[in-house]
Amino acid sequence: MIEIVSRTRCVACDKCVEVCPTDVFTRGEDGVPVIARQSDCQTCFMCEAYCPVDALFVAPQVHPLPERPEESRVPLGAYRERIGWGRGRVPGARLAIGPALPGTGGGPLVS
Ligand code: SF4
Ligand code: SF4
Repeated sequence: MIEIVSRTRCVACDKCVEVCPTDVFTRGEDGVPVIARQSDCQTCFMCEAYCPVDALFVAPQVHPLPERPEESRVPLGAYRERIGWGRGRVPGARLAIGPALPGTGGGPLVS
């Protein structure tokens, strides 16, 4: 469930507001989204995936955490990194997940 929007990282691009399927965010006056309807979050991670500056943290739990964690103690944007979105990352779709293909050495399909 969405837990954190980092005010120090957010560049107010509205991507998370646009991609959220359940309209969890409201745009704040300064452009930084506010988690306005946390209970509507479906833990789909789309906001975290689309945030271009890794400003979001979606916890894997489907219920709110008992206490909102400190921003410095959570892996902001970890899902986006994991799927390989973002500059300089290998898109997850290009990583082999099945048996090694002949001639690939069994590693990623890109160098
Ligand atoms: S995890 Fe999905 S449902 Fe939850 S706030 Fe992000 S985009 Fe919306
Ligand atoms: S996608 Fe990231 S940078 Fe853009 S408004 Fe949302 S939190 Fe801010």
